[in-house]
Amino acid sequence: MHTKQRLVVVSNRLPYVFKRGADGRWRTEHGAGGLVSALLPVLRDRGGSWIGWPGAADTGPDLEAAVASAGAVAGFALKAVMLDARAVQDFYHGFANEIIWPLFHDLKSLCNFEPVYWRTYKEVNRKFAEAVFEDSGAADFVWVHDYHLMNVAAELRALGCRSKVGFFLHIPFPPPDIFFNLPWRLTLLNALLQYDLIGFQTMRDRRNFIQCLRELMSGVGIQGKGQVITLTADHRTVRVGSFPISIDYNAFLRQAATEEVAHRAQELHRLLPKRKLVLGVDRLDYTKGIPQRLQAFRTALERYPELRERISLIQVVVPSREEIPEYHDLKTRIEQLVGQINGNFMRPGGWVPVWYVYGSLSRNDLLAYYRAADIALITPFKDGMNLVAKEYCACSIEEDCVLILSEFAGAAAQLQRGALLVNPYDIEGVADTLHRAFTMSEEERRGRMRRLRRSIRDSDIFWWVDSFLRAAIAKDLSAFPQPEGVVAEAVPDYVPI
Ligand code: UDP
Repeated sequence: MHTKQRLVVVSNRLPYVFKRGADGRWRTEHGAGGLVSALLPVLRDRGGSWIGWPGAADTGPDLEAAVASAGAVAGFALKAVMLDARAVQDFYHGFANEIIWPLFHDLKSLCNFEPVYWRTYKEVNRKFAEAVFEDSGAADFVWVHDYHLMNVAAELRALGCRSKVGFFLHIPFPPPDIFFNLPWRLTLLNALLQYDLIGFQTMRDRRNFIQCLRELMSGVGIQGKGQVITLTADHRTVRVGSFPISIDYNAFLRQAATEEVAHRAQELHRLLPKRKLVLGVDRLDYTKGIPQRLQAFRTALERYPELRERISLIQVVVPSREEIPEYHDLKTRIEQLVGQINGNFMRPGGWVPVWYVYGSLSRNDLLAYYRAADIALITPFKDGMNLVAKEYCACSIEEDCVLILSEFAGAAAQLQRGALLVNPYDIEGVADTLHRAFTMSEEERRGRMRRLRRSIRDSDIFWWVDSFLRAAIAKDLSAFPQPEGVVAEAVPDYVPI
C-alpha cells in the first residue's frame, strides 16, 4: 500500500511490447500510440504505475523481470498481469472481441454470446483489480481503459478499495435496442456505475449509456449540462463526460515535415503520376467498411468516366485478429474486390486504379502516405473516434487536400465542419462525394483543411488527458469546453426522479 497520491493507469496491454529474441532474452519495444506518449509525462511527473498484460502468453519470472526493468528505465512502475493461454482465448479473443467489440459497433449478428467467455472476463477483471489493489493507496487515482476492463471498479469495490476510479471507453457505446441483447446487461451497467468518472468519446455514446440506464433502472437522475454531468443511479453518484480522444498533433506535424517523409511522398507521386491520390488506412476489421468503400470507388469510376486515369485509391490494410474467421473472410472479400476493380479498369502498362497494401507500415511510410494523399476516404460503419482521420489532417502540411469522413466515426462530431461527411452504407452517395472532393476548388479545400487542423491542434492528446483528469476532481463542472468545432448534441434535461 502506498501513501503518496499517484496515478495508476490500467489497460489490457502494457505500453511496451515484449518479444523473446533468438538468444532467449526479452526485447522491449516502446508502444507506438498517442495515449502512451501523453500518459508517460504525467506518470513521470506525479509518479505512479501502469498495470497491464505484457502481451505474451509465454509467462515466467524472466518476463516479470523484463517488465520491471522496462519500468525502471521509463521512470515509473510497470506491473504485469499474467494471463495463461485459456484466459487470453476466452477473455480477450472471446468476451472482448467476439462479444463486446461487435455489439458495441452495432453488429449483434457477429456476436458469440458464449457463457464461459463472461465467466473468464469476470475472473480476468478480478485479477487486474487484485493487482491494482495491491499496488495503490486510497489517495491514488486509478484510470482504467477500455472495454476489456469494464468490471475492474466493481471488483475493486468488492476488495474494499476506496480510491477514486475513472474509466474511459475508447469504443462507441450502443443504443438500448442493441445493448439489451447482452445477456449480462444489468450486471455490466451496475459494474460501470462503480466508477467515479466514466468518459465516452462523444455525446452520442454518453446519451446511449444514459438511455440504457434509464430503461433498465429506476430513479436515474442527472445534474448539470455540458461536457461533464453528474448522474445518480442505484445509490451512486457518478460523473459522466464526453472527451474526444486525439493525437500528439505537434509530433505528427514535426515528423511529417522531415525531408525523409517529404522524399517518400514525392516518390509515391512519381510512381503514381498525373493523378490525385485517394487514401484509405484501416486495421483489417469489419467495422471499417472497406469492401463498401471499394464498391463506392468502383461506382465513382463508372459514373464519372473523367476520373479514370486521373485518380488512384491507395488502400492500406493493417493485419489484425486474423485468427477470427470473420476477419479472414473479410480479407478474402477485399482482395477479390481489388482484383475485380483493377481487372475491369486497368490499362495495360499504365494506370492501376487500386494500389493495395496489406501489412504494417513504418511510421515514416505511413506519414508519407498521409502527406502524399489528395483525398482521405475514411468510411467506417462505426468507430469510437478514428485517429487516422486526425493524423491525416495533422500531416497535411500544404493544407491542399480533402477529408471524406463517415458520419458514424466519433471524429465526425468534431470534424464535421471541415470534412465532407458521408453515410458509409450509401455507395452511390460516397461515389458522388468522391467526385465532389476531386472537383473542389483549391480555396474551399484549403479553407476546410485549415479549420480541421486548427481544431485538432487545439484539442490534442495532452488536452484530452488533462481534461479527463481534471473532470475527476474539479469542483465546478461547467468549466469543461468541448473542442472547437464540436457541434454540441444537447443532452436532454432529465428531471431527477
Ligand atoms: N497505424 C499503425 N500502423 C499502420 C497503420 C496505422 O499503427 O501500419 C496506426 C495509426 O497511426 C492509428 C491507428 O493505427 O494511430 C489506428 O487507429 P484508429 O483510431 O484509426 O482505428 P483503430 O485501429 O484503433 O480501430
